[in-house]
Amino acid sequence: MPALDVSRRGFLAGAAAAPAAASLAAPAQRRGGEGEGGGWDAIIVGAGVFGAWTAWQLQASGARVLLVDAWAPAHAQSSSGGETRLIRTEYRADPLYTRWAWESLAEWKALSARHEGSLFHETGALYIYPRGDPVIGRSVALQRSLGIPIDTLSQAQLSRRWPQMNFDGIAVGVLQPTMGALMARRSVQMLVHDFVARGGSYREVAVAPPAVRGRLDAVSSRQGERLAADRFVFACGPWLPKLFPTVVGARIVPIRKEVFFFVPERGDERFAAPQMPAFVDVSSNDLHYGFPDIEARGFKVALDLSGPVIDPDTADRRVTDQGLADVRGYLRRRFPDLADRPLAEARVCQYENTDNGNLIIDRHPDAPNVWIAGGGSGHGFKHGPSLGRYLAALMAGGGKAEDRFLLASHRPHAGEGEIRQRAD
Ligand SMILES: Cc1cc2nc3c(=O)[nH]c(=O)nc-3n(C[C@H](O)[C@H](O)[C@H](O)COP(=O)(O)OP(=O)(O)OC[C@H]3O[C@@H](n4cnc5c(N)ncnc54)[C@H](O)[C@@H]3O)c2cc1C
Repeated sequence: MPALDVSRRGFLAGAAAAPAAASLAAPAQRRGGEGEGGGWDAIIVGAGVFGAWTAWQLQASGARVLLVDAWAPAHAQSSSGGETRLIRTEYRADPLYTRWAWESLAEWKALSARHEGSLFHETGALYIYPRGDPVIGRSVALQRSLGIPIDTLSQAQLSRRWPQMNFDGIAVGVLQPTMGALMARRSVQMLVHDFVARGGSYREVAVAPPAVRGRLDAVSSRQGERLAADRFVFACGPWLPKLFPTVVGARIVPIRKEVFFFVPERGDERFAAPQMPAFVDVSSNDLHYGFPDIEARGFKVALDLSGPVIDPDTADRRVTDQGLADVRGYLRRRFPDLADRPLAEARVCQYENTDNGNLIIDRHPDAPNVWIAGGGSGHGFKHGPSLGRYLAALMAGGGKAEDRFLLASHRPHAGEGEIRQRAD
């Protein structure tokens, strides 16, 4: 999720050219599959945020697309299955992620507008920093150059504006008033709904790890059903290492994240939008972030940085007493009136972290028609629309591949255990 980290300073500069995807459909030679006319142009394995948006963008380019998932779109164990995800363009002056987040926001808003009940809540996003840093100024300037509304605030201004928050130790705040919270699970489910309503196909299929040796003609379900297509995308989130133990392997490591929701006092609106924005506290050692009380689910707060390695299939999804105590300690410092409020709900999810937080979007090295997309590293959700558009363009032979997304640009994580890495 959030920003500012030393390990991110190596981000390559420069923006990806991602022209509109050329049609995949036109030259495709139909193979024996289930698509009308005898074959799919593309099968997307994984209906999380990355797979769903890739399916959507490919379909928008005219391709006939089958989207499959072993469970369901944004199901409880998937990384996209949470309640809310922050959308923000504060990206440490990184031009590509800043632009992708901004361009994606327009598509998230369009999705939200198609459905009753908002999928995007414009709560604003507030970053608070313990000290000034030239990169903050560069990031603000970059965002202004893209037309993104943004304000910087001193500690005194922050305290006047949000007296329910304690800004001790904070030197500067950056407020992005038009950013906010996506209703994550619902957004993916609505997107898949729209994809199907516009002629796409969705099926529940658990795909067996493919034996990739040269061009792939079909994938098989675990029950042995064969699904043929011209091209394949595997957007399997934290399961990618299981599907591609050699090619992906430890380039993606799922780490455990605990998320807590607290009930504000009845009638106390200070911790709900619009009185309270979503926030990222760069001053705390482990980088806390949170959301105001949205749709009466409670005030959400979590730690961003560290976590033990987990298996998404077998992880114990009960939160720990230690995790709860840590978060209450944080609330006592920053939101004292919430520190003793009852816990409404808690969840255990996983980040699917890469070594440097960059996404992985690349062609399988042994198959020209197989693509891998993942490694959201705790910040990928917001980029779904841009990622889908970028990948659709690459698959159609257009667009420029960004070095940072290549498999070869990611080192496998060394060893197991606690991983401390800022997922920007
Ligand atoms: C607690 C938490 C907070 C986060 N906060 C933010 C945030 O504020 N902002 C932000 O932008 N991002 C955030 N993220 C990151 C973001 O949510 C993830 O990076 C993103 O959801 C990953 O999506 P995905 O599609 O790659 O994976 P997933 O959502 O996990 O989807 C992968 C899908 O593949 C399917 N699959 C796997 N194997 C198979 C198979 N063999 N056959 C068929 N289907 C298969 C799975 O069932 C699953 O549905 C957060 C993540 C977490 C966990």
